Amino acid sequence: MDKNPLENSVNLSEKMLSKLEVEALCKTIAEHLPAIAGCQSIGCMFFDNDMESFSDCLAAGKNPETMEKLMADFADDPDLLDLKEGELSEQQLKSGQTALVMPFYDQDPQSDKELIACLVLSDFKNGTPDKDQLKNTLSQYQFATALKNAFEHTELVRENERLRNSYDEIENKTSSLEEQTRRLIHDLTARDSIRTMHVERERLVYSISNTVRSSLRLQDVLETAVKLIGTNYSLNYCHILHGNDFHSVAVYEYKSDQLPSIRDSFLSDEGQLFTQFILSQKSPTHFEQNQIDQDPDNNRFLKSLNLRSGLAVPIIMRDKVLGVLFLQDSTVFTDFSIDDISLIGSLADNLAPAIENAELHKEIETQAVTDGLTGVSNRRSFNDSLTREFDRAKRYNQELSLLVVDLDFLKKINDTYGHQIGDEAIKNIGSVLAASSRSTDITARYGGEEFCVLLPNTGAVMASELGDRLRRRINDCRIEGQDFGFNISASIGVSCFPLHAESADALFLRADEALYKAKQDGRNCVRVSSIGPDGNPLPPVTTEIASASPQTIGES
Ligand code: GH3
Ligand code: MG
Repeated sequence: MDKNPLENSVNLSEKMLSKLEVEALCKTIAEHLPAIAGCQSIGCMFFDNDMESFSDCLAAGKNPETMEKLMADFADDPDLLDLKEGELSEQQLKSGQTALVMPFYDQDPQSDKELIACLVLSDFKNGTPDKDQLKNTLSQYQFATALKNAFEHTELVRENERLRNSYDEIENKTSSLEEQTRRLIHDLTARDSIRTMHVERERLVYSISNTVRSSLRLQDVLETAVKLIGTNYSLNYCHILHGNDFHSVAVYEYKSDQLPSIRDSFLSDEGQLFTQFILSQKSPTHFEQNQIDQDPDNNRFLKSLNLRSGLAVPIIMRDKVLGVLFLQDSTVFTDFSIDDISLIGSLADNLAPAIENAELHKEIETQAVTDGLTGVSNRRSFNDSLTREFDRAKRYNQELSLLVVDLDFLKKINDTYGHQIGDEAIKNIGSVLAASSRSTDITARYGGEEFCVLLPNTGAVMASELGDRLRRRINDCRIEGQDFGFNISASIGVSCFPLHAESADALFLRADEALYKAKQDGRNCVRVSSIGPDGNPLPPVTTEIASASPQTIGES
């Protein structure tokens, strides 16, 4: 069988010991055993002492499949474990074939003698060899050490692989946990920032609403509202178009620094069309540059504003539109979110009662100083104005004239045509005086059919001329009924500070005296006081005009 057994034994032992993998060792054994033992198929059955079973059964040589089946039978055979060290047992196979099995035990004197593996030899070329001889031959080779090393190495590799797999698994779990934590932190942060945003928004609505409500002056309310909304939203412009009729809309503006005012553009034809449109909306309208660019013909006004984004929110109270909040950005694009729109909607809702209160307050204030029949100032307001204007004239050494205008023959009008026609005559005088006065003049109904006109910075001559112009305009007023028609007339007394009086009361008294004179002189005329501040007569200052119209009631 073997020509140089010692040399072969050293060579094979070295080769076997150099194989660290069970597969490689098995292959090496299979390559050499035909020459050593005359078998053509071999099997290596490694015994796992922890598991107390054959864990690895490797076949090599001529009939690996048959060898595998063979080893599968052996692996379940408890007798195999009883084989003694160094014994070579013969096993009769089901196929009738013979296999020799040799167990190898751990050679380490320090440890227990544990089964390492069984070598199974089959397919003997020249029949079953002599067992003792073969046993002796095989014992020359270091099968036990090589099998032990290879099995332990393979176990270590497997353990290593197991550890690596579980490490990878742990790593995957860790990174998935990390990802989940990251997501959780992100969600928590997002939720936190949403909550913070909500709180800040509520605070903003509360603070704006409070500030706005703290004033009863309409102008203050609206100016404060546009400013607070404009600055809090960092807008280019914020407008409130106040009023529900676009003809009488008042525009309140907030603009960021360095931008020009665009308040007047709302008064242009296109501005009015736009105002009319947004005042007709009962819910917020969002404008965007894209949408404007796509339909420039219908968005000329917004195009002219260079609007990039805008939001119009109606201010509604009891279903009535009081005005519109109009937020716009022309330098940056502000994406008004649903949250923004609902917040600005809340602001508009809070603004509505503030505006209504301020409007009511203004109405009450106006009523307190306005005459209900004619719409000009009432007596109380006039007295305040007289004191104020007199003090100012005196302080700045300016002239101040007073006209006292009294409707002629009212009693007769009342008696002839009824009180309503008398009221009509009074209203006519109020309209003429209001329409003819300059912005600085103060017109008031003093009582009954008597009116006063205060003319700041006006001397006696000019006051007399103005008075006569008013007299003529009053006389042009014609009152017509079904079967009558007449022109009204009025008499006017004029006095002037400092020419006729040195106190407000004296100024009034002098004008009243002059009026009495006008009545005496036949009515429908203007008379200037002829008495000085000291009560002494003055020379006449102007041509007295006393041209009664032939159509007046006094002459009818
Ligand atoms: P004169 O030209 O001298 O001023 O005559 P007159 O009739 O206008 O003046 P008089 O003082 O004699 O009468 C004023 C009348 O005006 C008496 C009063 O009943 C009436 N009157 C006062 N206030 C009103 C008012 O608000 N409406 C109407 N219709 N009549 C009034
Ligand atoms: Mg009168």
